[in-house]
Amino acid sequence: MNIECPKCHYIRQPRDFAPEYECPQCGIIYAKFKPREKPNMATPKREPAPVADRGTWGVRPSIAFLGGFFACVALALTAFSLWSQRSAEQHVAAVPARQVRSAPRPEAKWEKTADELRVERERDLMSAARSICSDRIVKSATFQSSVDIQWFSNTSTKRVGTTTVIAMGFSALSTNGATLPFWGHCVVGDDGKLLYFNVVPR
Ligand SMILES: [Zn+2]
Repeated sequence: MNIECPKCHYIRQPRDFAPEYECPQCGIIYAKFKPREKPNMATPKREPAPVADRGTWGVRPSIAFLGGFFACVALALTAFSLWSQRSAEQHVAAVPARQVRSAPRPEAKWEKTADELRVERERDLMSAARSICSDRIVKSATFQSSVDIQWFSNTSTKRVGTTTVIAMGFSALSTNGATLPFWGHCVVGDDGKLLYFNVVPR
C-alpha cells in the first residue's frame, strides 16, 4: 500500500517502521489529520465575485462588507445622536430664557391693563354722572348762582348696574331769602341720560 501523507505528501514505503496509521516522516495520524488546503484544492476554486456584484446585496455578503456596513451605520447613528442631543440642549437652553424675558410680561400687563381700563371707565362714568347731576341741580334752582355743591363733604357716588347713583349735598338761596341745605338725588345711565332726579331738603 503506497499511502501518501495528506500533510507532507510522503509516500509510505514498505520498509517504514511507523505504525500503519501514522506518517513515518511527519508523524501525523492519517485518520486524524484534517486537511486545510486540500478541500480547496479538490473542490473547484471559487472565483471572487465579479466587481459588479460586490456592491450589491448578495445572498451572503462577506464579513468585511457587513463589518464596513455596520461601522458606517454606527458612525451615522453616533453623529445623529450627537447632533440631536446638541440641538435639544440648545432648545432647552433657549426656551427658559425666552420665557423669562418676554412671556410673563405681556400677559401680566394685559391683565393689569384690562383691570385698569375697567376701573378707569367706571371712574369716568361716575365723574360724568356727577357733572350731569350738578348741572341739573343748578338748573332746578331758583337762584342758580347761589348753588353751592358740597362735592367733598356731602357727595356720594356709587355704581349700580349700568347706572351711577348720586346723592349730592348742596346749599342754595331759597325764595324766602335764606340759604338752605338740600339733597340732590340723581340716577345717571351709562349712556349719559339722567334717569331720575329730585331735590329734597336736608
Ligand atoms: Zn507526513
